[in-house]
This record gives sequence, C-alpha cells and structure tokens, in this order.
Amino acid sequence: MTTDQGVPRAELGVIGGSGLYALLDDVVEVRVETPYGVPSDALFVGEVAGRRVAFLPRHGRGHGVPPHRINYRANLWALQSLGVRQVLGPCAVGGLREEYGPGTLLVPDQFVDRTAGRVQTFYDGVALPDGAVPEVVHVSMADPYCPAGRAAALEAARESGWEPVDGGTLVVIEGPRFSTRAESRWFSANGWSVVGMTGHPEAVLARELGLCYTSMALVTDLDAGVETGEGVTHTEVLKVFARNVDRLRSVLFEALERLPVDRDCVCSHALDGLATGLPGVPGD
Ligand SMILES: [Zn+2]
Repeated sequence: MTTDQGVPRAELGVIGGSGLYALLDDVVEVRVETPYGVPSDALFVGEVAGRRVAFLPRHGRGHGVPPHRINYRANLWALQSLGVRQVLGPCAVGGLREEYGPGTLLVPDQFVDRTAGRVQTFYDGVALPDGAVPEVVHVSMADPYCPAGRAAALEAARESGWEPVDGGTLVVIEGPRFSTRAESRWFSANGWSVVGMTGHPEAVLARELGLCYTSMALVTDLDAGVETGEGVTHTEVLKVFARNVDRLRSVLFEALERLPVDRDCVCSHALDGLATGLPGVPGD
C-alpha cells in the first residue's frame, strides 16, 4: 500500500523480526534515508490498539544483515524521523543460568558492552551531509532502559500468563559467532543473565536521541558455559524463536498498548538543557 498523503507518522517503534508485524492489516511500507545511510530495511507502519507503530526488521526482511553489520544509527534515526519516541526491542538471547532455559522472557535492566568496533554514538563531531555538526554530548546510561517501557513489558507478559524475569544484565557480544565455553562461564561468574548480539549500541543510540528504549529478551538456548547446555547452534536458535513468535507478538502488542501517551521518564529528559547540534533532535 502506498500513500499520497505524505510520509506516514508513528509514535511507537519496534525493532525486531518480520514475524512480529506479519499479521497486521494495512501496513504501509516506508523507505527512509538518513544522514547515516540506509536502515536495515523499510519501516512498516501500522496500527496496534489505536497507536501508530513503525516496525523495523533489525536484520532486514530476508535476515541478510548480521548483528555486527547493522547500521544501528540509521535504524534509530529512521524511527525518530517518523515521530517515534518510544521503542521496544525484542531480541533472541542465550541464557547464562540454568533456570533461564529456552522460552524464558527476560526484561533486562542493565547491559554490559562486549562488542568491538561498532559505531555507538551520534555525537562524534563529524559533520552531517547537510553541514550540521553535532555537539559533544555525554548522556547518562546508569539506567539504560526506560522504566515505563519495562513496566509495560512486564505487565503485558504477566497478563498473558508468561511470567517474565524482571531485571538482569544483558551482555552484548560482537558476534556473529557464539561464545566459547570459557567466555560463557566468565559471563555467568560475573552475575550476568543473558547474552545477545544487538542490544548494544541500540539502547545507547536511542538514549542519545532522547528516545525510550526497552529490551525484551527471549531466551532461545542455554549458552555454552551452562553445565546442561550443549553449546549453541543457529538452527536451535531459529527453532525456539519460531516456536515462541506468536506469544512474543501478543505480549509485544499488549506492551505497546500499555506504553504511556505522555512521557515523563529519565529517557524523555536525557537531553534537557543540552544543545545537540543534530537537526530535529530535542535539545537542538
Ligand atoms: Zn522512557
């Protein structure tokens, strides 16, 4: 479906697989160019419970973009350019504790960055194509996830009878390979909960634009260091994800419905009093 009434707007955003919006009616496909290049795919704008939502397939609809090659800046910029202010980021992760087996839904409250070489800021002093130069900005990441978004995700999961794990640390690795047993044991020994490949810099870039970001981590496997784990295979991850996609979609939609209409969270104030130098970004 195309539109001749200009580019559709959205207030909420989801970065996740195409299975999450496949069932929506009247989805408008919107191609967005950004000063940072092209996002993973077009944005798919539709309506969930009366809210306008833009879905972005994180790895592209054909799943052709691996975690370390995702243009995270273009993805976040594209969403905010449509008007999105709150983002939910469902993702597949490995469990680092025996009790976090496949099918566990964990809503993390912290992350640890173990990626390497990813561009992780909008505020790098490099001029944009239109000549605008971003200021030097240091945002707070003490609490990287939106408290209101986390509450919405947790309530939505409980409501659907899928008891979620409230809080925990998501360690983000560079990928695309999985962890060695030694790395995995080290992550567990540090008290970290789950391991994934995309949570960073997604959450950071959202905060840098003053957006709310909430991670919803679906455990698809026990990571290599967990005693009962067999070591992870890609096939296993895909299988478990496919088995859970229906209930993940239903929790996600329920969470979208519960997101506040007016924001007054730490994320919404992240840029208060700052000049960003970025066109269209609050604080500019
Ligand atoms: Zn927020």
